[in-house]
This record gives sequence, C-alpha cells and structure tokens, in this order.
Amino acid sequence: MSTSKSLFGTNGVRGLVNVELTPEIVVKIGLAIGTFFGKKNLLLGHDARTSGSMLAKAIMSGLTATGCNVYFAGMAPTPSLQLAVKNHKMDGGIIVTASHNPAEYNGIKVVWKDGVEISHEQEVEIERIYFDACFNFASWDKLGEMREIPGINDEYISAIKDQVDVEKISKKHFHVVVDSANSVGGLTAPSLMRELGCKVTSINANIDGTFPGRQPEPCPESLGELSATVKAIGADMGVAFDGDADRSIFVDETGEVYMGDKTFAVVLKQFLLKNKGATVVTPVSSSTLIKNIADIYDGKVEWTKVGSVTVSHKMREVNAKLGGEENGGVFYGPHQAVRDGAMTTALLLEIMTETGKKLSELIAEQPQYFIEKRKVECPKEKKELLQTKIYEQFKNGNVNTIDGVKIWFNDQSSILIRASGTEPVFRLYVEAKTKEKALELVEEYSLRIKELLQKI
Ligand code: MG
Repeated sequence: MSTSKSLFGTNGVRGLVNVELTPEIVVKIGLAIGTFFGKKNLLLGHDARTSGSMLAKAIMSGLTATGCNVYFAGMAPTPSLQLAVKNHKMDGGIIVTASHNPAEYNGIKVVWKDGVEISHEQEVEIERIYFDACFNFASWDKLGEMREIPGINDEYISAIKDQVDVEKISKKHFHVVVDSANSVGGLTAPSLMRELGCKVTSINANIDGTFPGRQPEPCPESLGELSATVKAIGADMGVAFDGDADRSIFVDETGEVYMGDKTFAVVLKQFLLKNKGATVVTPVSSSTLIKNIADIYDGKVEWTKVGSVTVSHKMREVNAKLGGEENGGVFYGPHQAVRDGAMTTALLLEIMTETGKKLSELIAEQPQYFIEKRKVECPKEKKELLQTKIYEQFKNGNVNTIDGVKIWFNDQSSILIRASGTEPVFRLYVEAKTKEKALELVEEYSLRIKELLQKI
C-alpha cells in the first residue's frame, strides 16, 4: 500500500501479505467498504493466492459487521466475479486479488453494481471512512449474513458462449494451449475452449497460489514454455492469462508471442467490419496501429488516460462497445465493459474461424511499426514543472495531452512522453515505419527534453 493517507492505487488496494495487508487492516477495510455501501448485498470472491481465503474472511467479517449481506463465490477469475455482480443484481462486489503481482502480494478491488470498478471519487470516500474510522456498526440483531453462491464460473462460461458462434468455431477443432499461471484462469478457460470444440493442452494448470510455473504477469519473458509447447505440438494458438485472468496474451502457431495491442487490433478490425462507424476506447499508450485500423475501417478512437478503470468508465460514458489496452486487456461491451481474458480468447477463435486465417496471418496483414523506448531522468521535485514545459513546447500539431503528451506525425510515426508515476523519470515511447526513423525521433526528443530540464 502507498502513503499513509491513501489505500487505493491504480487498480484497487495492493500490498504485501501480513506486512501491509494484515487481517486486522483488512477487517477495517471491510468495515469501510460496508459503511460506504450501507447494508447492501455484496458479492465476494478471490483468486488463487495462498492468502486469498484468509483475507476474504477478514473482509467478510468487516462487511457483515456493518450489516451487509455477503454472497461468497469462492475462487474465480475477476471477470467471472464482475459478471456475477451484474447478473445476480448485487449492489456491488469485492474481489481479493493482486492481479499480475507476485505471490507474496494481495489486493482488494471494489466494483459497482454493473461489475465495473468504482470511481476514484468513490475510492476517496472509502478512504475517508477508513482513516476517520467512522464505521457504521450494526446492532447484534442486524448483522449481515453470509451465503454461498455456487456456480458463477459455469454461468460465466455460458455467457461467453452466448457472444460467439459456437457451432461454427466447433467445426474447426482448433488445438489451443492454455497457460493459466497456476491461477484462476484454469477454472474457466480450458472448459470454455472444450465447449467451443477445441482440443486443449494445459500447462501451469493446477491451482497453486505460490505460482510455481511462471510469474503471473504474462509477457514475452515469462511465456517461453507456452511458446515452446505450442510449437512442439503444432497447436493453432497459445493463450496466457495473468493472475486473475482479466488479461490475456497470445502466441501464434509458430510460437511468436504478441503484445496485447496487436491482438486487440485483430479484434478491432473484425468488430469495425461488423459495426461501421463504431467508437473504440483505448489509452494513449496504445499503438498507432489502433488508430490505423480505426482510420481504415471507419471507426472513431476515444483516447483515455492509462488505466483499465478509465477505459471502462469512458466506455460507459460514450456508450462504446469495444475497448482495449496494450497489456492484453480487451473490453467487449456486448458481454461486459471490463477486461476479460477468456472472452478475448473466444473472440479470436471466432475471427480465425470467420476469416479462415491463422493467427500469424491476421497479425502479418496489419501495418508494422518499429518501437524505441527511452527514459530521461528528472528529479522528483522538477517533474511537474518539466511536464508543464513539455506541454507548452509540444502542444501544437496533432497532439493529445490527456495523459502526458502524445504526438502523431504525418509519416505515421508517433511519440508518447509521460512522467513515470513511481520513478524519477520521463518515459519516451516511439513508433515509426522504419528503425532509423524510430531511433532518430527518440534521440531528438530525449535531447529536447533534457534541454528543457536544464532551463528549469
Ligand atoms: Mg489482472
């Protein structure tokens, strides 16, 4: 957990188990959340971490003490719990998970009655209740009840099947390798794919909260085993989930691992072919590829700040049916406006079915970009001023300043300049059509930012 007066970070509360997130603290967080909702019906579940059950019970204790009824769903992927909150008409939900963080961490996400994470303002309200300890304790005869709510993972699987053409996909008999990182993705994705007629090979499939197979963040460095397995057995595709299975990263039939914006672009293209003129929501950190595809297939891009909650809220605000992030989060509105790893997998299988193309072919037909990244150091106390100077310097032209500064150039290259939230650096992220151009841009802008810093 961060500073003394805040609980929530970018994706809920996070902390080291029994150091920052002790049972006592979590009971109090439960009291604060229960007070915030006020004697309502709340769904509760957790991921596969060793601390999941302990912390869920602590939360439950706090919630029922304020008179909230707790519907306990047990172990489930985050998107499965989010869907259950909506479908079972709960007033909200609490998910005990630290998503992609290592095994020694855990965390708490709070979701609203539509399954989407609560707003920053609502988080601030829960923090105020927590730090002022102004909890609404219920009297002994008005305590909340705890009820089990079984079967939500089965409901989740069938909800995803409702969104795709099961019969058509089944005829293809795809062979898919699933890497669940020994966590909750394994409770739903393999069954879903079998029900879509796929042959499934699982790795890191047994539930084990120590995450012995790989780290729960799916990235090219952690997916060597998945890539090798897909290649060795001649599967059509591999999919890897993060610790709570809201994000999915894909491997093609040659073993190549793709960053999320490439597979998101595949989904986007097919979506726009079926939904002309639709709006898509994505953070400014996404590849120019998303803009390209939207331009070619008559879509409109709504850029947001970086963060999945912002994407969900923007989708709700502009009534968009699709959102996506480069880290492997695809938000499919007709199902639910949150990241959903298994839903994304089903969509990709459907696209492979409809187009008759392999995943490698679907990616190869996209515009290609060369990427260069750079950090420019900047002392913490000068960050804000430098940020202002950067705005002033670069605000003209095709620029978006919703989160840092993103500049699109006429030759389809682009640069994103953003202050890091945690380190004393500014990050530069360049995309260009040639490697030389990408290098040239990253050099030029690093230099210009260093010059601005010197003048402060
Ligand atoms: Mg996650």
